[in-house]
Formats: sequence, C-alpha cells, structure tokens
Amino acid sequence: MLALVACSRPRTRDERVASVAPEPAIRVAADTVDAGAIDAGAVDAVSIDAAPALVIVDAPMVWSERRAELTLAYRRAHSDADATGLEIEPRVIVLHYTGGSSARSTRRYFDNVEIEASRKALRRAGRVNVSSHYVVDRDGTIFRLQPDTRFARHCIGLNHVAIGIENVGDQDHWPLTPAQVTANIALVRELARTHAITHLLGHHEVMKFRDHAYFRELDRGYHNDKPDPGAAFMTKVRVGVDDLGLQGL
Ligand SMILES: [Zn+2]
Repeated sequence: MLALVACSRPRTRDERVASVAPEPAIRVAADTVDAGAIDAGAVDAVSIDAAPALVIVDAPMVWSERRAELTLAYRRAHSDADATGLEIEPRVIVLHYTGGSSARSTRRYFDNVEIEASRKALRRAGRVNVSSHYVVDRDGTIFRLQPDTRFARHCIGLNHVAIGIENVGDQDHWPLTPAQVTANIALVRELARTHAITHLLGHHEVMKFRDHAYFRELDRGYHNDKPDPGAAFMTKVRVGVDDLGLQGL
C-alpha cells in the first residue's frame, strides 16, 4: 500500500497516448467465450485460451539515470550488496492496493524519482521512490509501468525476485472490485506463463514470509506491517489461479 492523494493535474502526453491509443501488448483469445459457461465442472478444461482477453496497456513510468542509480543503491543496501545492475529473475508475484482511488495519480506518484521527505522511515531506508510493475484500475484495466525484470521498490525483502501489482483502491472507501479480481487472475496467469513464478503473495503476508529462502533484507531493523490487499482479495485471486500450483505462505 502506498499513501497516495488523488490528484487532478492535467495529464501528461504519455498518459494521453496511453488512454487514447492503448497498445494491446498481449491479447489472449476468446473474448467471445461466455463466462457463464465456465462452471466448476469445466474448470479443468479451461486454459488461458478460454479466458477473457487480456489486454495490457503500456504506460511506462518516467525513468532516468538518476532513478537507476538510486534503485541500484537501494538494491545494494537491502538485497544484493554486490549487485551491478537492476535485472531480476522473477519468482514471486506480490499483490497490493494503492490506498487511493486513481490509477493516474498512482502513476504520477511513481514518476517521482525520490521518496518524499515526509515518509521518514522509508526515506531513511533509501532515497529512491517506491513503484510497481503494474497498476490495475478499478475497471480492470491493466497498466504496465516498467519491465517485469527490473528491480522495483514495492515490498521489503522480496524486491530482488518479485513483480509488484498495485490495485487502485483500499479497504474501506474503495474496496477492490470484481473486475480487479478478474484482471489480477489473468495477469498472474500470464506472468506465470512467461516467468518461473513459484509464489503468489499479498503484501500483508510478506513479513510472515521472512524465513523463506527468497526473503532477503540486509537491514535487519527494516520492517513494516501492511494491510494490503487483504485476505478476501487474495482468496479470490488464488481460486482463479489454483491450477497453476503457486505457493503462498
Ligand atoms: Zn503494498
């Protein structure tokens, strides 16, 4: 979860391009399939080819040499002391919610190179701003903000192996929607197809994952207690990807 304030600033050129002319990077099959025809008895027969079309809108966040330098510094301080680059081999997918109501404001927030001074604990742990690889809007639109294989700061202990998916919403005012559940299921399926993913976690589960071999946090005093995206959402997504055999806690 990221503390975000909805903003109504004018859209940048990139945002207009993304919203006006989305580039469907991936489209898998059969948007003509009647979802109502997929009942429990037919689950075994459902493959990605029978799932609703998955469309991912490329909407890259601002990137710069400075951002790369700060990200590498963060990686060295927290994950891999000898790291020379930002490439990762994804093994885990971590789901989040933003705590806000707008995908646009989330993307604009991630564009900030450095984390703001008011987030003192995070700032102490590193200057580079947080980000995720994807943001899923409330209507299920999936935005890709950066390459799956780039180290991004979105959860303690797993950034060196984890793809982060933010969902626009929170626990109380903007509860996550059925469209977001569907989109997360489709996106997790696609990421598991393209990377050697073994685990699917909610951000709120990551601290309980500390004993796992994947978990690596060089600053032992650095921890947090996150509520997102919550057990109910994770259960719904996991039901939809059950056949993939992804592990949880
Ligand atoms: Zn989170």
